[in-house]
Amino acid sequence: MAENFRGRKGIIIGGGASGLMAAITAAEQGAAVTVIEHTARPGKKILSTGNGKCNLTNLYMDPSFYRSDEKGFWGTAIRNFPPKAAVAFFRNLGVLTMDRGGYIYPMSGQAQTVLDELPTEAEAVSSANKNYGEAQLVSVASDSGAKFFEQARLKRQKAHDEAMDSIKKTMKSSSLSAEEKKEYTAQMTENLEDLNAENEIETLIKAKGFADCLCFLQSGRADLTVMTSGEPLTAAQVAQIRDVVLNKSTVTAQNITVVEVK
Ligand SMILES: Cc1cc2nc3c(=O)[nH]c(=O)nc-3n(C[C@H](O)[C@H](O)[C@H](O)COP(=O)(O)OP(=O)(O)OC[C@H]3O[C@@H](n4cnc5c(N)ncnc54)[C@H](O)[C@@H]3O)c2cc1C
Repeated sequence: MAENFRGRKGIIIGGGASGLMAAITAAEQGAAVTVIEHTARPGKKILSTGNGKCNLTNLYMDPSFYRSDEKGFWGTAIRNFPPKAAVAFFRNLGVLTMDRGGYIYPMSGQAQTVLDELPTEAEAVSSANKNYGEAQLVSVASDSGAKFFEQARLKRQKAHDEAMDSIKKTMKSSSLSAEEKKEYTAQMTENLEDLNAENEIETLIKAKGFADCLCFLQSGRADLTVMTSGEPLTAAQVAQIRDVVLNKSTVTAQNITVVEVK
């Protein structure tokens, strides 16, 4: 994410879902943000959404689902923040999701999970002054070994297949404008390019001596999992991994995460 707001200060009035997401996004871009909320609990309305489960986003989007006097607004909004970006956004907060026939909910089935994470992240990003100029070593997975990679590869395949199916379905079922069709075709091409880049990145990282590596490119992010010999990854190794990703994809350094598996 570009640091467009580095050194700027901002005030957001209203700590609902929109205000909190805006605060996180602005803080990630370098702004010092203050959210002013006049009730005791920011984001409280989230608890009543989706019958207490919070329907975070929907995979099947079609112009006919939306009403607006502003023609074209639908396309612009969805293109700028497509469902897969919403899923990735919540995954980065630690909210894993499940797909119920295209309706996306937190895996916990509880809106409370979202309410717990959004204000926490808004606070953390705003106050911790995270270093978004570098790829971050985020965590050490508790699973271990080949089994982890086997399952992670299956999950990645499923995510790619679902993304492609969703685009194909939308292209078939709706009366899209020529511009929207072009946009969806571009998304399909981008997905295929991501698949190729993932393979190349994995091969290059393994050539640097790591026993295994899994790269997942989605929504402008690169999530890397590498198998280590037991020793923690060094900063130099993280930098090596980052450089491979930067060379082989369009992902920026602040959107790369590296997880080590022993
Ligand atoms: C029953 C129900 C179910 C829903 N289910 C879903 C769902 O499953 N999925 C979904 O995506 N959407 C759902 N929605 C819609 C969703 O709740 C809203 O789109 C969302 O909450 C809007 O967020 P917001 O931040 O714009 O507004 P709000 O959530 O209303 O937040 C506005 C915040 O601003 C604060 N505020 C207002 N005025 C001031 C002021 N002057 N000073 C300081 N603070 C102020 C308020 O206290 C509030 O916290 C549902 C809505 C309802 C009613």
